[in-house]
Amino acid sequence: MNDSLQAALAVVSDSAASYADDLMEFVRIPSVSTDPEHRPDIEAAAAWVAGRLALAGVPEVRTMETPGHPVVLGRWQVDPELPTVIVYGHYDVQPPDPLELWESEPFEPELRDGKVFGRGASDDKGGVLIAIQAVEAMARAGGGDPGINVTFLIEGEEEVGSPNLPVFLDQQREILKADLAISADGGIHGVGIPSLTVGSRGLAGVQITVRGANADLHSGMYGGAVPNPLMALAKILAGMQDDQGRILVDGFHDGIPDLDAATMAAVDAIPEDERAELDHIGLKRWWGDPAYSPMARRVVRPTLEINGMWGGFQGEGIKTVLPKEAHAKVTCRLVVGQDPDAVVTALTRHVQANAPEDVEVTATPLAGKGKAYQMPLDHPVLRLAGEAMAAAYGREPFPVWTGGTVPVAEQFQSLLGTWCLYYAFGEPDNGLHAPNEFFRVGTLRTGTEATVRLLHALAQRPDDWRRVEEVA
Ligand SMILES: [Zn+2]
Repeated sequence: MNDSLQAALAVVSDSAASYADDLMEFVRIPSVSTDPEHRPDIEAAAAWVAGRLALAGVPEVRTMETPGHPVVLGRWQVDPELPTVIVYGHYDVQPPDPLELWESEPFEPELRDGKVFGRGASDDKGGVLIAIQAVEAMARAGGGDPGINVTFLIEGEEEVGSPNLPVFLDQQREILKADLAISADGGIHGVGIPSLTVGSRGLAGVQITVRGANADLHSGMYGGAVPNPLMALAKILAGMQDDQGRILVDGFHDGIPDLDAATMAAVDAIPEDERAELDHIGLKRWWGDPAYSPMARRVVRPTLEINGMWGGFQGEGIKTVLPKEAHAKVTCRLVVGQDPDAVVTALTRHVQANAPEDVEVTATPLAGKGKAYQMPLDHPVLRLAGEAMAAAYGREPFPVWTGGTVPVAEQFQSLLGTWCLYYAFGEPDNGLHAPNEFFRVGTLRTGTEATVRLLHALAQRPDDWRRVEEVA
């Protein structure tokens, strides 16, 4: 093994005893981003991150204001010839409710069974600390600097959808120039089972309103002679999908490339106990397009789902009303190639084209749209990351996808022109966004080792991965 790697790993093993205390100090700050009352705690958490970066030796640390919560930027420019990586993470946390279900106070962290319990321990304070610890260890071992240019970008609004991040990235393009972004927010497939998240789906949706008469009407007086907005809405929605879940909205699939064999094989190789999963959700079998496996439907195929429908009488018993209006919310998870705005247009056209005569329909775009993200499975960074994780965990990682929407990776790509590698260590049982969230003390160390190995490989073998696009 390379001497400098050996030395950095030795620093990690010497320092690991203090990792849990450090995390508990960070978790003690109740940096809940949804609640304006916690604004002083947000400031305190940003200051804590800035202080921790400085302690790690990061020479240029700035807390930068945004229209919302500040971004902490820590720059370690070692040598312009070396590769530059951005490390992304967030210091804000979810609200701790429901409080009564916590075994210890969410913001008075406790160490039990080798785990630090507290809100934010896993999402994402453990992840942020791991990245800082790794850079710190490399600098200590390397005689003062980490041997690679690192820019920490730690935001305070991830749990509220990062509303100010795109503008921040756009405005700070110059100082955020990098060869790669690494997200310290995310996780692995299972406890001790490493994986690399290579893609996430996008999101787009509309709220549909159907209006008929100018008031609710008596069905005994008008029923059978006027259009019923709820029935009209039901028909519009039913026409969006066939009986096997194939989406029938014209233009919806525009731009989607065929799934290649390598992706299909990787998706189907994700170890999943399908029986246990079905038992867990109380269903007998999966549903949907038979041309794709259930896992493919869940992570790499687009969806169209009704999230809510309402209108008319919803109370106990009977009320023979003809509602004057009906509403629904429809959202779609998108895959690479789909443009959220084009999907909204396709949905709107479908709604209008399928509305019966004499009702008025509108489709209004819902907030929270985003594009899908997919790293090429053969990207050399994934190979280096896989090797680093395998060495730290003693087990090869495999690619996984999140079926959800994580706009940040796609924003790094579209605004900064860098791929975003998810390299994070949270485990599925960590209780993210739930009571009794925790992070394993052992994971603080394994994650730090894995990150040291990755950064070291990126620094030592730049020709293996840097500027791949230009070479290709
Ligand atoms: Zn997070």
